Amino acid sequence: MADGTTTLVRRACASFLGELAEFYKVPTCGIRVLAARPLRVRERGTTELFGDYRADTRLIRVWMRTAVRKEVTSYGTFLSTLCHEFCHHLDFYKYEFPNSWHTRGFYERAGALYHCARGTAPKRLFWVPVAGGRWRINWPRTNDQARR
Ligand SMILES: [Zn+2]
Repeated sequence: MADGTTTLVRRACASFLGELAEFYKVPTCGIRVLAARPLRVRERGTTELFGDYRADTRLIRVWMRTAVRKEVTSYGTFLSTLCHEFCHHLDFYKYEFPNSWHTRGFYERAGALYHCARGTAPKRLFWVPVAGGRWRINWPRTNDQARR
């Protein structure tokens, strides 16, 4: 990742996703590793700032560079994005949900996968209720526990 070469990163991602697909007994998904993030990605399917996933084509796309400064994304952010997008894949192909929403359970699963893949201790996610019966992660509190 350090020199920003997408080819080797793509190969590593494909290998990792292949292992995950085998473990979870789901069809494999495709992977595209792209350079600079678009400032806005608007497409059908689930869209993230750092990556996206389409259930119809089973394709994950991840961006290696930040949109404005074109800097290479940190390893942690990149891996976290990859795990997040794979969890969308699991929602459709493992759990057979009709949709894949960013529920609290979704973030718990994505976090568990990330920490397992990285070999780091899982973090408890702290949640704050926001308008409309929704929730958001309290990142200061979630990250603070790691320092104790
Ligand atoms: Zn998502």
